[in-house]
Amino acid sequence: MSELKPRPGIMDIAAYVGGESSIAGHARVIKLSSNENPLGPSPRAIEAFKALADKLHEYPDGGSTKLREAIAHRYGLDAARIVCGGGSDELLSLLARGYAGPGDEVIYTEHGFLMYPIVTKSVGATPVVVKETNLTADIDAILEAVTPRTRIVFLANPNNPTGTYVPAEEVERLRASLPAGVLLVIDAAYAEYVTRNDYEPGVRLVEANDNVVMTRTFSKIYGLAALRLGWAYCPPGVADVLNRIRGPFNVNAAALAAGAAAMADVAHVDAARAHNERWLAWTAAELEALGLKTTPAVGNFVLVRFPSSERAEAALAFLNGRGIIPRRVAGYGLPDCLRITIGSEDDMRAVVAAVADFLR
Ligand SMILES: *Cc1c(COP(=O)(O)O)cnc(C)c1O
Repeated sequence: MSELKPRPGIMDIAAYVGGESSIAGHARVIKLSSNENPLGPSPRAIEAFKALADKLHEYPDGGSTKLREAIAHRYGLDAARIVCGGGSDELLSLLARGYAGPGDEVIYTEHGFLMYPIVTKSVGATPVVVKETNLTADIDAILEAVTPRTRIVFLANPNNPTGTYVPAEEVERLRASLPAGVLLVIDAAYAEYVTRNDYEPGVRLVEANDNVVMTRTFSKIYGLAALRLGWAYCPPGVADVLNRIRGPFNVNAAALAAGAAAMADVAHVDAARAHNERWLAWTAAELEALGLKTTPAVGNFVLVRFPSSERAEAALAFLNGRGIIPRRVAGYGLPDCLRITIGSEDDMRAVVAAVADFLR
C-alpha cells in the first residue's frame, strides 16, 4: 500500500464523464450530448481567435480587463464585480475553495449539475443532497437542509440535465431565508436561452446582497466551449476572494479575444436563441406526440423519459446505431431518461424520426 494519500473526500469523487463525441463505425455523427450551439460561435469570435496566432509568445492580460468591460457593457454591469475563469467550472471550484472546507456543508439538489459534488468533495466539505419536486429545485426543501455548518448552496437555474427553472420570486425567497453567512451560487449557464417573464438570471440578487454570486458561461449560447471561458458576477468581497485565489493568468489569450468579440455580436446570440426556441418547442412536442414525457425545458436541451431504464438504454443504442449521440443521465439519478441537445433542424428531424422508429 502506498503511503501517499490524497486529502479526505477526494477518493469519493466520481470523475466527471463528458458527453460522448464518437460512435465506432460512424465517420459522421450527430452530437447532441454536450449542449453545444449548433450555429457555432460568432464569425467575429473566430476572426479574433485566428488573429491571436501571431501573439502566442505573449502572456494574456491577467485581469481579463477588456473582456470584463465587454461583458459589463453588454449587460449593464459593474466590470469590477466580474471575475473571469477557465469555464464556469473553474469559478465553481474557486468558490468552493474560497468558502468551504472540512466540517462545512454544501447544499445542492438531487438532479443538480455534477460539478457540485466534485467541487464540494475536492475541498473536503460534506455534500448535502436535497430532494427535488417534479424534477425542479424545491426551495423549502433546500431551506430545511440548512444547518449552522452550511456554507454554500449551489443552484443551477435553469438546471442541467432537467431543463427546469426556479422563478425569480422563489430564488429571492431562498436568498431572503438563508443565513447571512451562507453563499448562494446561482449557476445561470443557460440564462440566455430563457424567454420566460418570471425568470431572472441572478444579477439583481447579486447587486442587492453580499452573499449571492451568479456564474455564466461562453460554452453554451456563445458557442465557445472549446476555449473554456466563464464569468462570475460577484459582490465586491467575493470578487476579492476569487481574485486572490485564482491563477494569475487563468484565462488564456484566445478565450479573452474571442469572448470579447462574441459578447459584442448580439445578433448572433439572438439568432441562436430564436433557433433554439423554435426547435426546442418542436422537438418536445414531437416526442410528446410519440407518447414520451419531457420536462418543461427552458435551456437548449430536452430531457425525455422512457418507461424504464432498460428502454432508455435500448433507445440510446438504437439512436447510436443511426449515428446520433444523446446524453445518458443515469449519473444524475435519471437512468430512465436521455438528454438531447437542440441541434440543427436536420439533426432534430433525424432524432425524432429515429425515436419514432425505435418505438414502432
Ligand atoms: C454547461 C454547464 C456549465 C458550463 O460549464 P463551463 O465550464 O463554463 O463550460 C455550467 N453549469 C451548468 C449547469 C452547465 O450545464
